[in-house]
Amino acid sequence: MTSTTNNPARHRSLGDHTWQADAVCQSTEYNPVDPEIFFPNPDETAKIATAKSLCGQCPVRRACLDAALEAGTTDGIRGGLTEEERRPLHEKLAHRLDYSRVNATIAGRDIHLTKAERRAVVHAAYRHGLTEQRLAWLLKITEEHAQKLYRETRRALRHRDLDQPAPTTPPPADPDGDHLGRGDFGTAA
Ligand code: SF4
Repeated sequence: MTSTTNNPARHRSLGDHTWQADAVCQSTEYNPVDPEIFFPNPDETAKIATAKSLCGQCPVRRACLDAALEAGTTDGIRGGLTEEERRPLHEKLAHRLDYSRVNATIAGRDIHLTKAERRAVVHAAYRHGLTEQRLAWLLKITEEHAQKLYRETRRALRHRDLDQPAPTTPPPADPDGDHLGRGDFGTAA
């Protein structure tokens, strides 16, 4: 699993499409763009080059790529990458564990999370003592579901503590107050 810590401010809120207003590929009266160039066949190199050139000048390229990955949009050129170039990123996304996303969610942002990131949010919320109601609000789930997640977290933490090796017994103290050295035990230890 890949863990990262990207700039939290960069994360797009779920359902936020405002970035599209700045997209270079938005066709207007003064800037006509043929949407077909973003859906080329693999051998249509001229179309691909034209689309990539537009993406290269686009100020919302990152948001466009994130939106495509998070929505599982595998068709067409997005964020300057063709379908083939984006495929490994789609596969990698499921394994993302980005703690800046976890922290942004705890702070109240509504952003896309992978399963691993949702689990990390539950652990962080539990450790910070957030109420089940707050967790439910953060993850947009019911309070019953939040209670269940906290129960599972409590159980997992208890098991983890039980798995920890027992603390080693300190050597007996010297009746005179001095610590005993290894040679004092008279064994081959
Ligand atoms: S990165 Fe490319 S496809 Fe995405 S909005 Fe910009 S121009 Fe359009």
